Amino acid sequence: MTDVIDGNALADQVFDGVSDAVDEFEAEGVTPGLATVIMGEDPASQTYVNMKQRDCEKAGVNGVHVEVDGDASQDDLLDTVADLNDRDDVHGILVQTPLPDHVDEREVMNAIDPIKDADGFHPENVGRLVAGEARFKPCTPHGVQRMLAHADVDTEGKDVVIVGRSNIVGKPLANLLMQKADDGNATVTVCHSRTTDLEAKTKAADVVVAAAGLPEFVTGDMLSEGAVVIDVGINRVDADTEKGYELVGDVDFESASEKASVISPVPGGVGPMTRAMLLYNTIKATRLQTGVDATL
Ligand code: NDP
Repeated sequence: MTDVIDGNALADQVFDGVSDAVDEFEAEGVTPGLATVIMGEDPASQTYVNMKQRDCEKAGVNGVHVEVDGDASQDDLLDTVADLNDRDDVHGILVQTPLPDHVDEREVMNAIDPIKDADGFHPENVGRLVAGEARFKPCTPHGVQRMLAHADVDTEGKDVVIVGRSNIVGKPLANLLMQKADDGNATVTVCHSRTTDLEAKTKAADVVVAAAGLPEFVTGDMLSEGAVVIDVGINRVDADTEKGYELVGDVDFESASEKASVISPVPGGVGPMTRAMLLYNTIKATRLQTGVDATL
């Protein structure tokens, strides 16, 4: 029997913990706040940010949403970030990517106060993560780590193959899973577009994490019998639906679930966990900034 991880149910558990923490903060006169910043009109980004703001409302977090015109200058965006850095009612800041071409994403990430860096992408926080002293674990990798733990997958000594080496998924996840820690201790191989014989690597893996941004790329014949499969991908593919598209992952769920012992679906897998870990980081940021020791 294949165990299909219910990312929505697990995310709800995290959201419940966040709501409880919010109550503890409120008792001390503090409302945790998360600012989301969007620049431009990218429809997928708009959807993600709307969902994040709805999550804030649900959990009792003060959601502050700022829209910056897509034609505005990089300095305008940096001024927005600087204002949010200065606000006492904002404890976490997220700038939704991708940003317009004329904006240097790295400069914008660098401008976020590291103690308000709810995404964990500021170089100071990346450095801490690599050193095994994470302050804010990036949301998607942290969500994946939680899903593995929830499915009773002990990564110690396991061979993990991550398909994708981005700064937001592949690299930080590799760092988390290789750490000398109870929820790490794996032997991690990170694959990318120049990897030779990917299939040999995924076939030899105990755990395969797909984060390549390629629809249904990882198929059952690339997996060993009993592998654990986590699908990070979110791809819009044309479909005969009301919206004209449907969401599929980077894993071909049908063939992969014939081989896998544990698998995460898309939708309803890593996506909701990513959003839940964003609020988790907001609570962590609020603790660090206020000194209120709310349970997390
Ligand atoms: P990127 O496009 O930044 O990175 C994709 C990675 O996949 C790159 O490292 C690339 O290699 C690698 N790759 C591309 N083609 C191949 C191939 N044929 N074989 C092996 N590796 C390949 O994507 P992201 O990391 O931002 O996102 C990955 C996926 O996860 C996307 O579908 C995205 O939508 C989704 N996502 C989902 C989230 C969630 O909450 N569930 C959050 C973030 C992302 P190279 O470096 O050589 O180019």
